Amino acid sequence: MPYTKLYFNRLSLGLVKSSTQINKRYKHNSTISKDLSNFQITKNEQDLINNLPFFKNIEKKKPKKAKKSETEAGERGVYVNKKLAVVGNYFADPENEGYFKYTLPESKTNPYYDVLASGKLDKIIQSKKELPRLSVTKLLTKRWCELRETYDIYSRLPIFSHNQVKVGNIIHSKLENISHPLEVEVEQFKKEFELIVPTDSFHNFANKWIDLISKFAVLYLEGDAREILCHGYLNSKSDNFLKNKTADNFSEDILVSGIADHLFIRRRKRPEGDDNHILFPEIQLKSDIFDSFSSDMDTILNYLDKNINQLISNLEVVITDVKTRNSKTIPAYSSVVKYSKLQVMYYRYLLKLLSSDPKITYHNLLKNVRYRGFDVDKPIDPAMMIPILMSSDLFMNDCRKLRDGLTVPNNFFKTDPHSNQGTQNKAYDWSKYENIIADPNIQNRLSEFFVKWKQPVTLRYLAMRMSQFYYYTGKLLSNQLYIEYYFKGVNFQTTPFKYNHQLLEDEIKSSSKFWFGKRSIEPIDPSMKNLRSYCDNCDYKSVCLWKKEGFEKLNGLGKDLLNVQKHFINGSLNGNNLGESSLL
Ligand code: SF4
Repeated sequence: MPYTKLYFNRLSLGLVKSSTQINKRYKHNSTISKDLSNFQITKNEQDLINNLPFFKNIEKKKPKKAKKSETEAGERGVYVNKKLAVVGNYFADPENEGYFKYTLPESKTNPYYDVLASGKLDKIIQSKKELPRLSVTKLLTKRWCELRETYDIYSRLPIFSHNQVKVGNIIHSKLENISHPLEVEVEQFKKEFELIVPTDSFHNFANKWIDLISKFAVLYLEGDAREILCHGYLNSKSDNFLKNKTADNFSEDILVSGIADHLFIRRRKRPEGDDNHILFPEIQLKSDIFDSFSSDMDTILNYLDKNINQLISNLEVVITDVKTRNSKTIPAYSSVVKYSKLQVMYYRYLLKLLSSDPKITYHNLLKNVRYRGFDVDKPIDPAMMIPILMSSDLFMNDCRKLRDGLTVPNNFFKTDPHSNQGTQNKAYDWSKYENIIADPNIQNRLSEFFVKWKQPVTLRYLAMRMSQFYYYTGKLLSNQLYIEYYFKGVNFQTTPFKYNHQLLEDEIKSSSKFWFGKRSIEPIDPSMKNLRSYCDNCDYKSVCLWKKEGFEKLNGLGKDLLNVQKHFINGSLNGNNLGESSLL
């Protein structure tokens, strides 16, 4: 269907979905864990894990591995060999031939500066470009085994993209398309558009920000949104995120980014134990609060600004994370369950930080742009803006203001930061499109813009709008978090848990100390259960000294126990004092 038809179809439907449609959007078949109070592994989860056949039979036999296609197995073999060769350069232990040490290499004791940013630091400082980012998932170093994570970091190879990862990406993308059909329409429009939409790194980056602003608008208009970007700056000296402070030291303040899978709005006061609607947005400002539908950015932000206190008492924004599984089970590893919860807590933490002061958030967003080597005042190509303006009214009024050189309203800045930074003088001439574009629908809708603009659309303008949305969203965040488990596209289990600030702060410190070389590696506890489960599924199992020594100790323990038992029996037969024999 041509895009313009889609656009007018949507308009004729008034863009308001019936409640039946909304319910279809959130149809799922999920069971909900009942323990809402504790972030740690719940009894329910622990029972589920312990009762998995994998652990029940652990003493009897090795677990069966899922069959992989020959191609995937072959590709994985090549990948693992490549990894072992690189990691061996740093970790090979001369005293234990064929094994890798579990201590950091003396020449490279700082995983971030010596490995991730290695060789780039001087260049980066000179060019004032961005240091390599960390992601929230990279901070979860103990999600599996920190030693495995360390080897992977030093291998500098991307994670192997096995089938489960590919399936997960498809499901995330499907869910995103359901929540954000406009993005799909914009992409469809671009395919049929007469102009070439730029895809260079600057415009791709701008596109991400435009998407994010649109998603925030959808959050308030529709009640939920997916794939919301968040970030913060982790200071490598203090091992903490910068709070109420701009990132000024780009060799110390490291950008950490993440994507919160799913945000939805629901009523804050709920009957005790009422979980029936936890994954359904319970409010849509467009139909429940605004008299008539409006997707104008200023109307939404003004509404939020005027009513924020009342909204805080009545509504909350809940964050959930979507995990895709290859069977209807939650992960068999307790650390994976625990760190999945911490991951969602990180998103909440970062979104909250971004809401503390919109001016600081705005300046940090601009810093991020500069660190990437982009100009915050560079005009965004009109060929990128036309599909956006054709797809919704969200940016229309702002674009009119920019076109006419008027202030774009923002309650947090005394003067419009956009108009004060010399952007007026940048040429932004849309007049040529009057003759270039033949599509009558575009001409009808956008002809008012085909003139010389007084101010261009820039990343600076987008940063200002983003900082406003971050501010209100952070104020509304709930302490209740969820993980949604999906199998074959259907949500089969949802795990609720509470945000635990102190625990997360401790994790941040610990993870930062690892990344910046202030503590040693902390591998899995070498119990029989761990060595048999974690290690069996690890790419380093054939070379890992920690695993080898772990088994040796356990075997030695077995012999000791046997000796003690023999001694005990002999002693008993010889009539010795049993109490003296049991020295365990
Ligand atoms: S083999 Fe076991 S201990 Fe060694 S890195 Fe892998 S999971 Fe960790």
